This record gives sequence, structure tokens and C-alpha cells, in this order.
Amino acid sequence: MSKRNMSKRNSRREFLKTAAAGATAALFPLPALAQGAGGRVVIVGGGFAGATCARALRTLDRRISVTLVEVNPTFTSCPFSNTVIAGLREITTQQFNYQKLTADGVVTASAAAGIDPQARTVALADGNRIPYERLVLAPGIDIRWDGLPGYNEAAADLMPHAWKAGEQTLLLRRQLEAMEDGGLVVISAPANPFRCPPGPYERASLIAYYLKTRKPRSKLIILDAKDAFSKQRLFQNAWKELYPDRLEWVSLSGGGKVTSVEPATKTFVTDFGRHTAAVANVIPPQKAGRIAEVAGVTDRTGWCPVDPVTFESKQQQNIHVIGDAAIMGAMPKSAFAANAQAKVCAAALAKLLAGQKPEEPRLINTCYSLVAPDYGISVAGVYRPKDGMLVDVENAGGVSPIDAPHATREQEAIFANGWFKTITGELFG
Ligand SMILES: Cc1cc2nc3c(=O)[nH]c(=O)nc-3n(C[C@H](O)[C@H](O)[C@H](O)COP(=O)(O)OP(=O)(O)OC[C@H]3O[C@@H](n4cnc5c(N)ncnc54)[C@H](O)[C@@H]3O)c2cc1C
Repeated sequence: MSKRNMSKRNSRREFLKTAAAGATAALFPLPALAQGAGGRVVIVGGGFAGATCARALRTLDRRISVTLVEVNPTFTSCPFSNTVIAGLREITTQQFNYQKLTADGVVTASAAAGIDPQARTVALADGNRIPYERLVLAPGIDIRWDGLPGYNEAAADLMPHAWKAGEQTLLLRRQLEAMEDGGLVVISAPANPFRCPPGPYERASLIAYYLKTRKPRSKLIILDAKDAFSKQRLFQNAWKELYPDRLEWVSLSGGGKVTSVEPATKTFVTDFGRHTAAVANVIPPQKAGRIAEVAGVTDRTGWCPVDPVTFESKQQQNIHVIGDAAIMGAMPKSAFAANAQAKVCAAALAKLLAGQKPEEPRLINTCYSLVAPDYGISVAGVYRPKDGMLVDVENAGGVSPIDAPHATREQEAIFANGWFKTITGELFG
């Protein structure tokens, strides 16, 4: 071996040693991470918010270098995962890779383990560090494991949450498939705020559809920590029509709030009694993805307060938070909303990096829910910044008509499918 090669090998060995030491990890000098003339943005989380932001930044200004830090090589989508649980589609239709983003010049890396807001660096799990001028955190949610007595990571094997799509989705589906006809399904829904406000009720509807068609002697109960929920009248009217005597909703004031669970027997405990299920789906309290806490951008609610124009954290300069992890005022935690926020954030970042003032945005959200495969309902809203929050623009949104004919519901189910294809196609297609 030549002297030059030997010294190269030695220095690589030294670098690996330093990286393994963790605490002394050096800045990661990948050529692809070289400072773009337009600035350097690192995005943590390649879901609906983070992947959209990365793509939008590439489109806005190719001089900005964009690094996407995503822990999983495959993204599994929560939207439409309720149809997987109900056996209406396969999990593979929910899964996407990052090839398109990589081809578009976005550099992807592994898991973010730490953030240093003063030094403006992201520490990766492999010990390397990436510098940023502006950091976007889009880590989605984590389960608040201390939020419901009796519920922990081991309990989730027996009483799946299926609120992060993937193995948990399949586990709940398999439990339903294995259940005897006549078994009771119980879903517990948390208090606000949480990911996808209509999600528990869509799930209940599609499981009721599964029971109606496959296990006709079975029933489902939703135990709720709330007295009201998204698209409530639409759901309840549809349940009366499609699933009479099969689906029961127990409100907070009706004794629905679950105070603890007993996983060994799949029992939900409320102040009013106990419900033992054959299949138990606990949708637990949630918080911003853990890396947000590590970065110091969460407040005592566990979520991240942000400026509604730039989505910059109210707690740490140069760190922006988008998607489910952020507190967005009236705007719900949805993939549609995450996508809209990401585009607005990207536009704001391009302006900020160019030393200009971002414009005040208007954002739109639409959430479709399937009550049956051919029965869709929706809610839409428009939002604007006011007093440091996003508020509803009056008379600019609303829900599907209450007394619509079946053809309208069928049409909305088609729109729901169309929306899902469009948003996933835009990001990963
Ligand atoms: C059952 C269900 C049904 C739903 N249906 C709909 C629907 O029909 N329509 C709709 O609009 N919304 C729906 N939603 C809501 C939607 O899934 C979320 O609002 C959306 O995923 C939020 O996007 P996000 O980018 O904030 O988070 P995510 O999409 O969860 O993305 C977060 C990403 O960050 C990554 N990550 C986290 N931490 C790190 C780290 N430290 N390092 C590297 N990577 C990290 C994760 O791996 C993940 O890929 C549904 C949700 C559920 C649970």
C-alpha cells in the first residue's frame, strides 16, 4: 500500500473512532452537504410535512441545499390505514420510498438524535453532526406513554394503538381477523388535541363495516374522553343508517372517559364501569415527536408553539416546526394540513434566507373520512394568522351536507381516494 493510501486509511479509522466516541463527533463534511449559495436547510422527518417541505424548497430555489433526515427507508402512511385494518386494502398500498426525493437532489440521512440550537447542528444517531442555517422539525407524534395508567409499550402488543402506521396497523387487523364472530371490539378515543380528529370515528365506521360483512354477531363500542367530535352529526347519521345496533358511542358525560387499562384481560376502566373486549384498540394521548422535546421547542402541553407566518418556534430561533408536532391553533393535525403548512414554511424559509420578509399566508385543509368503502364525508377549513395563532376564516369552510343523497357520499369516497393518490404521488410518486 502506498504511503498516501495508508495515511488515508488511518485518517478514516481516526474519523470512525471519533464518530463512535459520540461526544466529540465532528461536523459531517459530506460534499453533498456543502453550503448552497441560497443557504442550508436541514429537515428532520420525511412524512407529509417534512417531505413536502423538502420538495417545495427544491422547487423554489435550487441554490438552497436541503438535507432530509428520516429514520425509516420506507414511509408508511396513516391516511387510509383504517382501510387496511378493515381488510379493504393491503399495507403495501400505504408504503412509499424516498427515491424521488433523492433523485431531486435532496440528501437523505438517518435518525436525528440531538439538536444544538446554539451551534446550529443536528446530531445523527451514527454520531455525525450536520450544520444548518435553518432547521425544520417535522417529526409527527409520539405516544404519551405516561398518559393512561396501565398503558405502555408492552401493552401496545395486546391493545394496539395503530396510531402510527405499520406493524401496529397489521397487528390490529390480525386481531380482528382472529376474533370469533360475536366478539366485542372496543376503541378508546383521547381528549383533544391529537393526530387526525376524525380518525377514531372513521376507524370505528370501517371496523363496523368489517363486522357487518364478516362477523355479523359482533359489536363495537367507542369510549370517548370528549362530548363532541369532528363531523359528529355526519358520522352519527351514517351510523344510524349503516350500522344500527352495531356501533355505540359513549361520550365523556355518558361515562366514556377511560381512566386506566388492564392489558392482560383487554379491559378498559372508566369511572362508570369496566369494558372487557375481544379486540381492544387504545388511541392514547399524544405529544410532539421526541426530537422536538430534545430541541427544546415543546411547551408544557408537549406540543410546539410556533409563529403562524413562518412556523418558527416561539422557543428557539432558526428552528421551524410543521405538521402534527406543532400547535396550529384552529388548524387540525392532518396530512392535508401538514402538506399546506410545509409549502408555506418553505416559501417563508426561501424569503428569510434571502433576507426578505415572508408574506402572511392563507392555508386550507380538507379531511375526508370513509364511513364505508363507498360512503365518504368531509370537512374543509381556511385559516389565517391572528394574534400569534392560526384562526378560521369565517364562512370559508364547512362539512358535507347532512341530508345528501347516497350519490354524493359515493362521490366523496371517490374524492378521498383521489386526494390520497395525489398527495402521495406529489411526494413519493
Ligand atoms: C388512522 C389515521 C388516519 C388518518 N387519516 C388521515 C386522512 O384521511 N387525511 C389526513 O389529512 N390526515 C389523516 N391522518 C393524519 C396524518 O397521518 C397526520 O396528520 C400526518 O401524518 C402528519 O404529518 P407529519 O409529517 O407531521 O408526521 P408523519 O407523517 O408521522 O411524519 C413524521 C416523520 O418523521 C420521522 N421522524 C420522527 N422522528 C425522527 C427523528 N428523530 N429522526 C428522523 N426521522 C424522524 C418519522 O419516521 C416520520 O416519517 C390520519 C392519521 C391516522 C392515525
